[in-house]
Amino acid sequence: MLQFISNLLSAKRRRRSGIAAIGPDMIDRNAREVVKTLQKAGFEAYVVGGCVRDLLLGLKPKDFDVATNAAPWEVKPLFRRARVIGRRFQIVHAQFGREIIEITTFRAPADSEQSGASRHLKQSDSGMLTRDNVFGTLEEDALRRDLTVNALYYDPSSDTLYDFADGLDDIERRTIRMIGDPATRYREDPVRMLRAVRFAAKLGFTIDKKTAAPIAKLAPMLGQISSSRLFDESLKLFLSGDGLATYQLLRDYALLAELVPGVAKADQDPTGYRLFELAFNNTDQRLADGKSITPAFIWAALLWPQVARNAAKLEASGQSPAIAFEEAANRVMGLQLARTSIPRRFSQPMREIWELQGRLPQRFGSRAERLVERQRFRAAYDFLLLREESGEQLDGLGQWWTDYQQCDTEQRRQMVNLLGSGGPKKRRRRKRPARSGD
Ligand code: ATP
Ligand code: MG
Repeated sequence: MLQFISNLLSAKRRRRSGIAAIGPDMIDRNAREVVKTLQKAGFEAYVVGGCVRDLLLGLKPKDFDVATNAAPWEVKPLFRRARVIGRRFQIVHAQFGREIIEITTFRAPADSEQSGASRHLKQSDSGMLTRDNVFGTLEEDALRRDLTVNALYYDPSSDTLYDFADGLDDIERRTIRMIGDPATRYREDPVRMLRAVRFAAKLGFTIDKKTAAPIAKLAPMLGQISSSRLFDESLKLFLSGDGLATYQLLRDYALLAELVPGVAKADQDPTGYRLFELAFNNTDQRLADGKSITPAFIWAALLWPQVARNAAKLEASGQSPAIAFEEAANRVMGLQLARTSIPRRFSQPMREIWELQGRLPQRFGSRAERLVERQRFRAAYDFLLLREESGEQLDGLGQWWTDYQQCDTEQRRQMVNLLGSGGPKKRRRRKRPARSGD
C-alpha cells in the first residue's frame, strides 16, 4: 500500500504507537547534503533503510544510506570525492572526511518482466538472482527491498516519510516481515534468511509466521552463496553486539549449521552449546563496554569442539599431541573454509589460540614464563576460562593461570615447583585439553 506520511500525520500516529519522532535535524549532516545536492540537480532522493528504521525506534543509526532515481554515472559527477563500486549492484560511495554515504539508484523488483530493462536481470535455475542492475521507480525500489521495516524512505527537505510496504505498521507491531512471497524472496537471495534473523535479534522483533515458515527448508540454499559473502555476513551476525540472541535464532531456524557445518554435533552437546553461549555473551559484553573484539575469538570457539574431538581421535591413533593438534586444526579449517572464507589475519590467531590450549597445561621449568610472554597469551587464557566455565574438566587450570599472572617472580617460581612430582611427561598426558573437549 502506498502511503505518504507528513510529519504532522506521523506525530498523531506516534502518540498512539510510541514510534520515535523523526526530523530533518536527526539526519546526518552529510546525508542531508547528499539528498539536497541530488534534489537540486533535479533528481529524487531520500534517506532509506536501516537509518530510518533505527531512528523511528529511537536507536542510533549505524550509517545513512541514500536512494535516488539518478543513475550511478549521474550521481558521481555531483560529488567531489565519489566512486562507483560493486558488480552485482552498482552504487556510488560519496566520501566526506571519514564518513561514506552510500548512494543507491532505485531498482526494480526481480519479477518486473514487463519493464524493458528486464534483460539486464539474470536468474539461475534455482531462482537466484545473479545480476540485478535494473533501475526502477521509488515504489518499485521499496518493494524489492528485503524487510518491510527496511523499506521506509524519508525526505529531510520536506520532512516526509514514505511507506510503501507497511513498514510503520510492522515497527509498531515489532514484527520482521519479508516483502512479497517469502519463499520466492529467499530463493532470489538466500542471504535474506540470515538478514531476517539478524534484524529480529538486533531489534528484539518477532519473525512473522509466513516469513519464518520457509526458512528451515530453504536454509541449505546458503550453500550457493560465495564463501566471502557468507564470511562478511557472519561478522554482521556475530559481532554487532547481539551475537548471543542472533546465535540462538540461527540455531532455532536451522541456519547455523549452514554457516558452520561442523557445529551441528557440538551444538547438541551441553558443553559445546555452553561454550558458544559464553563466547557470544563475552563478545557482546565487550562491545557494550567499548572494548576491542576480534572475529578470531568467536570463530575459535565455534570450531573448538570439532578441533578438540579431531585431535583426541588423532592422539588415540598414536599421533603426538602437537601433531594431532595441528592436523586437527587443518582438517577443521579445511571444512569450514569451503563454506565461509576466513581471512588469514583471523585464521592465524585462531590456530594460535587452539595451539596454546595444548600448551597451557605444560607449565614446568621456564615454560609458564615463556607462555605468558606470547602475544596471543591473553586471548588463549580468556579462551581457557570459557572452556572451564562451559563445563570442561581442566583441574583448575584457569585459576592457576589467574593466580600466576598476579604473582611476582619468586611466587611464580614456587607455583611451578608446587606443580607436583608427576613429571612433565605424565602431566602432559593427563592435562591435554583435547581429551576433555566433548
Ligand atoms: P544495518 O546497516 O543497521 O545493519 P540496514 O538495514 O541499513 O541495517 P544494509 O545491509 O546496510 O542494512 O542494507 C541497506 C538496505 O538495503 C536495507 O535496509 C534493505 O532495504 C536493503 N537490502 C540490503 N540487503 C538486501 C537484500 N539482500 N535483499 C533486499 N534488500 C536488501
Ligand atoms: Mg545500513
